[in-house]
Amino acid sequence: YAAKRDKSGVAVYDARLHERGASQLTAVTELRHAIDRGELFLHYQPKALADTGAVCGVEALARWQHPTRGLVRPDEFIPVAEENGLIEPLTRYVIDAALRQCRAWQDAGWEVPVSVNVGAACLLHAEFPGDVADLIKRHGLPARLLTLEITESAIISDPDRAVEVLRGLTELGVRLSIDDFGTGYSSISYLRSMRVHEMKLDRSFVTHMCTDAGDSAIVHALVALARNFGLQAVAEGVEDQDTWTALAEAGCDVVQGYFLSEPLPAEEVVSWLGDRAAAHA
Ligand code: C2E
Ligand code: MG
Ligand code: MG
Ligand code: MG
Repeated sequence: YAAKRDKSGVAVYDARLHERGASQLTAVTELRHAIDRGELFLHYQPKALADTGAVCGVEALARWQHPTRGLVRPDEFIPVAEENGLIEPLTRYVIDAALRQCRAWQDAGWEVPVSVNVGAACLLHAEFPGDVADLIKRHGLPARLLTLEITESAIISDPDRAVEVLRGLTELGVRLSIDDFGTGYSSISYLRSMRVHEMKLDRSFVTHMCTDAGDSAIVHALVALARNFGLQAVAEGVEDQDTWTALAEAGCDVVQGYFLSEPLPAEEVVSWLGDRAAAHA
């Protein structure tokens, strides 16, 4: 209980601790309801080929429109979901919503591959590939249009089980990406045992690579690593033209970041694609 004893032995009520405990509990309950009631929604951030600028997909990013707190960022609620057994229903919800949107774009004449971030716990559950297979089938889409972005921490917590689940996902034909590459631990050795298709260079190295020689060295090394493993290199956090140019020169395949576009509401994606296609023609 949120009480501790002061020097005289009298129980002192720790309001701060209590508050934290209570708000955490509220957040969990609210998040569970948000998933059940469909209050989460997705924004989509475009990605483009570094050399031609052609759009090659979008990343789905979760948003929570909270009834009183307004728009809540994923950095706030994903950890709550991870710690409280909600990441699996949340991930299923996000994949379902992203595939439904992908199908709607396809029906409107746009083939837009979608990437979804997958919470760590999902990779430790043997049923996860089967769940993903069901969702893909339900939406009638080719598996190659779905990329799952995973983080190294997911793999490190139980490598054997994670590799097994990743193998199951690969067999479905979905693409696998290692997100925030370079920020975790022992990343390189896992590249041997995992069949992933894509490496996402973390924006902490990318954004300032033109002004920071250390960042630039890391980016060049990671692009070379991706090359040697036959992986597509994707840079996130590209905020200006110079960085895009430097990445293209370094041999990076795909760029993503505010310079191309911020994450967009679903209904703005088609007009954005249309404008861009027109500008390119
Ligand atoms: P992430 O997957 O690395 O996503 C990239 C984050 O960087 C996004 O923040 C995006 O809005 C932001 N970003 C994109 N371009 C730029 C740029 O040029 N500069 C800067 N400074 N930032 C940029 P967001 O949407 O707040 O997401 C944060 C993180 O939350 C994601 O990082 C991802 O790890 C997690 N996340 C988001 N949606 C989901 C989800 O559906 N499931 C799970 N498990 N995690 C999610
Ligand atoms: Mg991501
Ligand atoms: Mg990332
Ligand atoms: Mg990140």
